Amino acid sequence: MLLEKMISILALSAVLMDGSMDAAMPDKNIDGKVFLVNRQHALNQRYVPSDLRDVLVHGISQDLRDEAAAALEALFQEAEAAGVPLSSVSGYRSYSKQATIYQRKVDSIGTKEADRISARPGTSEHQLGLAMDVARKGSSQLNKGFINTEEGQWVAQNAHRFGFIVRYLEGYEDVTGYDYEPWHIRYVGVEHATAIYHSGVPMETYMSGYRLEVYDYLIHQVTNEVLP
Ligand SMILES: [Zn+2]
Repeated sequence: MLLEKMISILALSAVLMDGSMDAAMPDKNIDGKVFLVNRQHALNQRYVPSDLRDVLVHGISQDLRDEAAAALEALFQEAEAAGVPLSSVSGYRSYSKQATIYQRKVDSIGTKEADRISARPGTSEHQLGLAMDVARKGSSQLNKGFINTEEGQWVAQNAHRFGFIVRYLEGYEDVTGYDYEPWHIRYVGVEHATAIYHSGVPMETYMSGYRLEVYDYLIHQVTNEVLP
């Protein structure tokens, strides 16, 4: 029995080493809801989500992936009903569009400042088609003052119920790599969004804990198979 257990552990180690276990991790699936994109984890120039569609909400016409679009439509409806109507400002952005935006920032404020507030191409979540910048209805202003409005407060406290998180939190700039952005929400699905909201930590921190849990589960599942 001990030998069998050792063989299964060796098999698991091999799986971990050749990376196929990584592929099974939810945050390694580029088309998944919890794929992590930040300054360290960049997207390929060619990545374009296959299920983008126009989001049918008030504001500038923007695309998101289908599931995120439906969730955002529900969020906007409830915000409107709660007396805090919103506008969409910026959703899916292609690699090349992000390259143009970033270059424009570099030209106007220099590389150092541009890197603090703008994403280099490939490092923006907007390329995933799961992020939307939102503002008060009728506005396209994106600034930190949003959190001091009723609309911004509502978004901060309710977005998770629709599967969105406020992605760049205040006080976690060193973890996320971005300034606080109360207007930028990212779709991860209701389950993860709710857990992240209650944890109060950024997605990077949450995902590393979640990955450990998944590894733990997989390891025990494998080893338990050979136990009597
Ligand atoms: Zn954004």
